[in-house]
Amino acid sequence: MARWVEVAERVFVRRHATLDLSLGLVVGERACLVVDTGADEEQGAEFAAAVRELTGLPWSVLLTHAHFDHCFGTAAFGGCPVWGHPGCRAELAGGGARADGMEYHRSAGDAAAAGRLADARAVPPDRVVPDRAEIDLGGRRVLLWHPGPGHTGHDLVAHVPDAGVVFAGDLVEQGAPPAFEDSFPERWPDAVGEILAAGPRIVVPGHGDPVDAAFVAGQRAELAAVAELCRAVRAGEITEAEAVARSPYPAAFTGHALARAAASR
Ligand SMILES: [Zn+2]
Repeated sequence: MARWVEVAERVFVRRHATLDLSLGLVVGERACLVVDTGADEEQGAEFAAAVRELTGLPWSVLLTHAHFDHCFGTAAFGGCPVWGHPGCRAELAGGGARADGMEYHRSAGDAAAAGRLADARAVPPDRVVPDRAEIDLGGRRVLLWHPGPGHTGHDLVAHVPDAGVVFAGDLVEQGAPPAFEDSFPERWPDAVGEILAAGPRIVVPGHGDPVDAAFVAGQRAELAAVAELCRAVRAGEITEAEAVARSPYPAAFTGHALARAAASR
């Protein structure tokens, strides 16, 4: 169902078959940081129990963004500090994140998952990070930063400098194309460039296996190609159909990117 991968010393990724989700754990000497919490409280509770098999240290949670599969397990971590971007807080305080997840489960015909999401408590971040923050876990720092609009308008990444690891949320995706539904397609390449500028040895995507910087650079080039297609359509240089034909990604993904670019016109 789910398994741990230790990507660096005391830096762990919990790989899930469901949605190919990757959740994270960074362990210091006095505290640990949990990166994302899963799609509902059942998944969150399973994850919390798995964390407790590795460490009994006090925990806090970072939410990389407010998409339902990353943040509706937070209540299982029981009232701990929750870090997130102000936009993540706004999404979770409103109902948009849950509504999008309900729609996802309904369209997949998964009534049980929809029920679990309906029952999950939303936990908006109480440690709001508009730009940058540093967490001291004891003998280990974790740097949080918002690399600019990308997969959403409120992505927050976690950088563990001593381990050379960046948790990228859905700014980076392995095993499937990046998801553009709430994206800023023409800004996304720059956000990924910010991740590469940190010089990571390992980047943990929100979905799929951990990757290296070369993979991330390749994905950045694909995102830059999509950004250029969006710009060309906006400028009237090519049609949407031409953009879809030239895109490195499937038509539905490119279509979402073009719609988002048009909406930001
Ligand atoms: Zn996402």
